[in-house]
Amino acid sequence: MTNTHPTPVSVLGLGGMGTELARALIAKGHPVTVWNRTSARTDQLVELGAARASDPAEAISASPVVIACLLDHQSVRDTFDDHTEHLRGKTLVNLTTTVPGQARELAAWAACHAFDVLDGGIMAVPPMIGGPDAFLLYSGPREAFDRVEPVLAAFGEARYLDADPGRAALYDIALLTGMYGAVAGIIQALALVRAEGQPSAEVAPLLSRWLRGVAAAVGVYAEQIDSRDYAKGTVANLAMQTTGFGHLLDFAESQGVSAELLAPLAELMRRRVAEGHGHEEVTGIVEFLLSKGSTS
Ligand code: NDP
Repeated sequence: MTNTHPTPVSVLGLGGMGTELARALIAKGHPVTVWNRTSARTDQLVELGAARASDPAEAISASPVVIACLLDHQSVRDTFDDHTEHLRGKTLVNLTTTVPGQARELAAWAACHAFDVLDGGIMAVPPMIGGPDAFLLYSGPREAFDRVEPVLAAFGEARYLDADPGRAALYDIALLTGMYGAVAGIIQALALVRAEGQPSAEVAPLLSRWLRGVAAAVGVYAEQIDSRDYAKGTVANLAMQTTGFGHLLDFAESQGVSAELLAPLAELMRRRVAEGHGHEEVTGIVEFLLSKGSTS
């Protein structure tokens, strides 16, 4: 593909995700330099046209835009700490999953060494990179984002959030947390079906459809949590839900399916009803999560 504004980009970290990021950049016509701790992982990208750097310093020196996609915050520090002089004046885009405090620490470190850091959260798995469903969250200096956005567009929709470097990490963690909650429900649902000897494949499309409908409630839940008015717009009161959910878990146990994945949620719901909030939505249990005594 012809890129009329190709920007040299270096990618450090070529695991499953970093490899797809580098591949997407090459596909968009950017000159790409790659480095990975285990050098053999660079081979397939070199075959596609990437230049191989023998160490992080060489990789950083090759491009004004440097992408990090490493295992965790510590591996980012291990890789970049000794090379700050090569980063001066450049933009480091850290797509390694971190927590907000780590993103802020990296930004403060970058400010001391005169380079920009954008922190990014990748809302995609590797095969989605460069496709229509991938989106990535970014925070850090707005000017740096505007400068490198044409490069970042290779990965998927680039969504800028805030100058606070920690914002992308916070939302990344929030979205992943939502995903794991859904994963718990999905696995429990498929376990129930398998316990009856039914194929999971048959219920899967119904479950997908149902979860898409359930996702529509996120906006209502957010309003209730922001306003602390957990009765606002209630369509399914907590007392009814607690009774029904209890029956679901009793059924699971009767089928020999453990209820341990979802039992803590049921317990919080029961406590909230016992404290007189049965007329509200389920969102009121957030009060237990935000107070230290949630297990009392
Ligand atoms: P992999 O486990 O496939 O790759 C990890 C990478 O980190 C490898 O390149 C590895 O090098 C490198 N690495 C680990 N420790 C160090 C170190 N101390 N110094 C230098 N390099 C190191 O992970 P992914 O590529 O899947 O994930 C990378 C990042 O992307 C993670 O932060 C992950 O959370 C995030 N991410 C991943 C998604 C996914 O679906 N895979 C989705 C969204 C985000 P080596 O090859 O030498 O071991």
